[in-house]
Amino acid sequence: MATTSPSSLHVVLFPFMAKGHTIPILELARLLLSRNATVTIFTTPANHPYISTSLSDTSTSIISLPFPKNIPGIPPGVENMDKLPSLSLFFPFASSTKLMQPDFEKAVQSLKTPVTFMITDGFFGWTLESANKFNIPRLVCYGMSNFAITIIGVVYFNKHLFEGKSENDLVIVPEFPWLTVTRDEFDDVFSGRDSNSPYAKWIVDNVLATSKSYGLVTNSFPELEPVFVEYWNSKLGPKSWSMGPLCLSYKVTRTEFLSSKKPSWIVWLDKKLQFGCPVLYVAFGSQSEISEDQIDEISIGLEKSEVSFLWVMRRSENGVHPTMDAGFEERVKEKGIVVREWVNQREILEHEIVKGFVSHCGWNSVLESICAGVPILAWPLSAEQPLNAKFVVDEIKIGVRVETCDGTVNGFVKGESLEKKVKELMEGEKGKEVRKTVAEISRTAAKVVEEGGSSWQSLNELIDELQNKSVTS
Ligand code: UDP
Repeated sequence: MATTSPSSLHVVLFPFMAKGHTIPILELARLLLSRNATVTIFTTPANHPYISTSLSDTSTSIISLPFPKNIPGIPPGVENMDKLPSLSLFFPFASSTKLMQPDFEKAVQSLKTPVTFMITDGFFGWTLESANKFNIPRLVCYGMSNFAITIIGVVYFNKHLFEGKSENDLVIVPEFPWLTVTRDEFDDVFSGRDSNSPYAKWIVDNVLATSKSYGLVTNSFPELEPVFVEYWNSKLGPKSWSMGPLCLSYKVTRTEFLSSKKPSWIVWLDKKLQFGCPVLYVAFGSQSEISEDQIDEISIGLEKSEVSFLWVMRRSENGVHPTMDAGFEERVKEKGIVVREWVNQREILEHEIVKGFVSHCGWNSVLESICAGVPILAWPLSAEQPLNAKFVVDEIKIGVRVETCDGTVNGFVKGESLEKKVKELMEGEKGKEVRKTVAEISRTAAKVVEEGGSSWQSLNELIDELQNKSVTS
C-alpha cells in the first residue's frame, strides 16, 4: 500500500525515442519541477546526453535502460527515430521497446521515493502492465491534439465510414457534420484497411492500454479545441488533461538555455530585421523524409516567390542530406539561406522578422507557431499531420494549405503551386487574415499557462487528484 504525504510528489516520465515525442515531455518535466515534484525520466544511453543537456539547469533524475539489441533492420547504436536509416523501420523500432519491460520494472521498483504517477508514451502500451504491478497510475502522452485523437477515435469506431469509398472521396464525420475526411488522411489501421497485420495488432494493443490507463496528458488547451476536448472526455476517454502549450514552460533566452554565441542563421535573421524584410521559415520537423524531386520543386517555388526564406533541411528519403541544384544557394543568397544543422526552432519562430512557416504540421511545430503568432502554410507528410493541417486551416483558420498535383493529401507539390501559396501567405489578403487570427490565439495561449489559466489549473488538478489518491490508498 503506497502511503505518501502531499509534499512527496514524484512523477516518472518515459518519452518515446523521437525528438517530437521527447521535447514536449522535457517541457512537461519543467512544469512538474515548478510544482516541486521530484521528476525521474527514463531513456536509453544514446538519448541520455540530449535529455541531460536540455535539462542541465534542473534537478531531474535521468535513468538509462539498455535499448534492445539485435532487432532486425535496426543498426547497432541506433536508439532514436532521427537516426533510423529509414522511417519504414518505425514498427520494428517502436515495438522492440517492449523488451525493455523487465529492466524498466526493476528500475521502478528500486526508486527510493514512492511514485505518485507515471506519464509514458502512447507507443509504450506495455508500461501499463508495469504501472499496475506497482499500483502506480499511468497517464499516456501521444503528443497529439485532442482534435486528432478524437477524429481518429470516431473514425476507428465508425467501422463502415469508408466502405465503398476510394482514397480521396470526401466523407462527412457524423459526429462533427461540418467536417469531411478522406480515407488517406488516416493510418490503415484506423481507416479499416489493416486489421490483421502485426503492426495493426501492436497499434490496437497500445490503444487498448490507453483506454485502461488513468488518463491522457495532452499538449494543448481547451480554449483551442473546446468541442473536441469535450467530446473526447465525455464519449471516448480516458480523461484528457490539457496542459499546453508545453513549449511555454520556459522562455527562449540566450543567457539561460542557449549558448551565448548566436548561430549564423539568427545573425542572418537579425540582418533581415534591420532591413525590414519579412522571412518565411521552412521546416519539416525532426524526421521527415522528402524526395530529391520534391526538394527541387521546393527550391523552385521559393526562388520564384522572391520572398526571404530560412529553410531547415534535415534528410531525404535515403537518410542523407539532399543536395540541390548546384547554383541554387548561390543564386538566392541575397534572399534565402539553407541550414542543415539542428536549430532551436522556437528561437527562429519567435524572431520578430519571421512572418510565415511552411510546416509539415507536426503538432509541436503547430503549437510553437501558434505561440509565436506565426501563420502556417500547411504541408502535411505523414502520421496525423493531415489532420493537424485540417485543424490549422479549416478549424482554427491560422493558415493556408499547399496544393498537391493530384489533390491527394500527401501528393507531389509543384514549384509554381508552392510559389503561389507562399505569396498568398506572405503578401496576400488571406495571409493578413490568418496572421490576425493566429495573433489572437497566441495571446490566449500565453494566458492559459499563467497562474489560474486553464492549463495551469489542469496540472494542479491532476496533481491534487493523484496525491490525494496515493494518500488514501
Ligand atoms: N526541432 C528543432 N530543431 C530542428 C528540428 C526540429 O528544434 O532542427 C523541434 C521542433 O521545434 C519541435 C520538434 O523538434 O519541437 C519536432 O516536433 P514536431 O511535432 O513538429 O514534428 P516531428 O519531428 O515529430 O515530425
